[in-house]
Amino acid sequence: MPKTSTKYIFVVGGVLSGLGKGIAVSSIGLLLKGRGYRVSAMKIDPYLNVDAGTMNPTEHGEVFVTSDGLETDQDIGNYERFLDRDLTRHSYMTTGQVYLSVIERERALQYKGKCVEAVPHVPEEVIRRITTAARVNRAEIQLVEIGGTVGEYQNMIYLEAARMMHLRHPGQVQFILLSYLPIPGQLGEMKTKPTQYAVRTLNAAGIQPDFILGRGALPLDHPRKEKLSINCNMRPTDIISAPDVKNIYTIPINYERERLAEKILEKFHLPLRQRDLKTWRAMVRRSAGRKGTLTIGIVGKYFASGTFTLADSYISVIEAIKHAAWSRNYAVKIDWLEAERYERQPSALRELEQYDGVVVPGGFGSRGVEGKIAVIQYLRTHRIPFFGLCYGMQLAAVEFARHVLRLREAHTTEVRPKTKTAVIDLLPEQEHLLREHHLGGSMRLGNYPCRITAGTKTAQAYKQRTIQERHRHRYEFQNAFRTTFEEHGFLVAGVEPTRNLVEILELRDHPWFVGTQFHPELLSRPLRPHPLFVGFITSAAKQQRRTAVVRRHRK
Ligand code: GLN
Repeated sequence: MPKTSTKYIFVVGGVLSGLGKGIAVSSIGLLLKGRGYRVSAMKIDPYLNVDAGTMNPTEHGEVFVTSDGLETDQDIGNYERFLDRDLTRHSYMTTGQVYLSVIERERALQYKGKCVEAVPHVPEEVIRRITTAARVNRAEIQLVEIGGTVGEYQNMIYLEAARMMHLRHPGQVQFILLSYLPIPGQLGEMKTKPTQYAVRTLNAAGIQPDFILGRGALPLDHPRKEKLSINCNMRPTDIISAPDVKNIYTIPINYERERLAEKILEKFHLPLRQRDLKTWRAMVRRSAGRKGTLTIGIVGKYFASGTFTLADSYISVIEAIKHAAWSRNYAVKIDWLEAERYERQPSALRELEQYDGVVVPGGFGSRGVEGKIAVIQYLRTHRIPFFGLCYGMQLAAVEFARHVLRLREAHTTEVRPKTKTAVIDLLPEQEHLLREHHLGGSMRLGNYPCRITAGTKTAQAYKQRTIQERHRHRYEFQNAFRTTFEEHGFLVAGVEPTRNLVEILELRDHPWFVGTQFHPELLSRPLRPHPLFVGFITSAAKQQRRTAVVRRHRK
């Protein structure tokens, strides 16, 4: 570990997974940033996958993409949203990456004939990656989330690396355990024992936590803090209450009440500096929705195991909708619309009338595609605000070609490889990648520039001529269809300038019918909602007023 003054905070999980470690890391980051420090965050996933691109969203949640094109865990999205900064590929580490580099280095004889061993070479590679991330991000404080739960075999090498870093620079490394305190129904009392065991397991790895964030249905009371203090060898003031909340953006405010950032800085012997949470608090207040509640539908197919998964598969889309709505003083109610249902039961399309706007997000493969196309057609012809993201944009192009241009065979070759009317087809460089089964990290990924067409609603929303947006796709709109599309009112509102790729389509005679080849949801931040989501939400608010008038008329 190089001699720098960078401070490192490792956040580990105890007792069970799914406690919101990513949000905890993000919240701590926000508070430390609010104290005037340059903060960065990274996540370690103890999987052998090299990146998150090959993981199924129903199992692992959304795949987030960094500006420099790494497919990562959704937590990187949380970090970016809370810290309001772009992170890079250095912010995501998997066991696959670590082993791959060690083995590649061994093959290049860089260990100079030594025996290459799981310890110390693997933790040394982990440490190298953590310190590199801090250096590249010029972090004064680098947060490191270790995925999984303490006691798992999979994350041992990371605890070992963290322990080694602490041994070398004790004053520069802290540990935070995010743990769970259950309230068993038959007892009605919050129990501390599982957390005590989690701390002992951590102790067995040579690590003593500096803080415990006690997650539970209720806040931790004083007796609970005392009990954990005695049994875990910690001051009661270092046990922080972290109860369940409805709105994740209130979590930093709760931590602030427990003076968490101050306590962390004190332990590092760093000055407290000014505190700045004003704009954040104002954003949380706006989420109450002074002007009412908008109802937005998201058409999806990653519905496998209930609503929990759903929220995870489309997290950036959901957050982007909220950010935009709150910025306009609207609360938002999001409904899940299952694409395949509209294939089985076309009459269900009528229920779309209840929505102030509908998003068709990204996706892959053929399942649910005809349902999505039916939804898009309904939204187009009934003038309901529509926002298509990536696959959503591609399918809007297919729908338009089929029903307006009367090209009945129109399709994407992703679903029908042999179609004669390929409105959407593979990017040329993707052909050999697919043929040779190079499927990991090989899509068109990350930031590309886009030039906006003047006079469009898109241009009005962005108020900028050239923008940068993040991508994750293999297929694209075919320029051969461009003129016919435009002649019939489906305008090309944004183009990638060097390769002339169509990035945004926008219907001229419609309140809001916009599709983007990129993923604008990845750039939305609570304090900086994405312009296109704001455009969509503004149109949804108008739609709500319009339908209210129509309903009043009918009565
Ligand atoms: N499946 C489409 C493609 O690969 C869209 C991808 C997406 O929605 N992220 O181009």
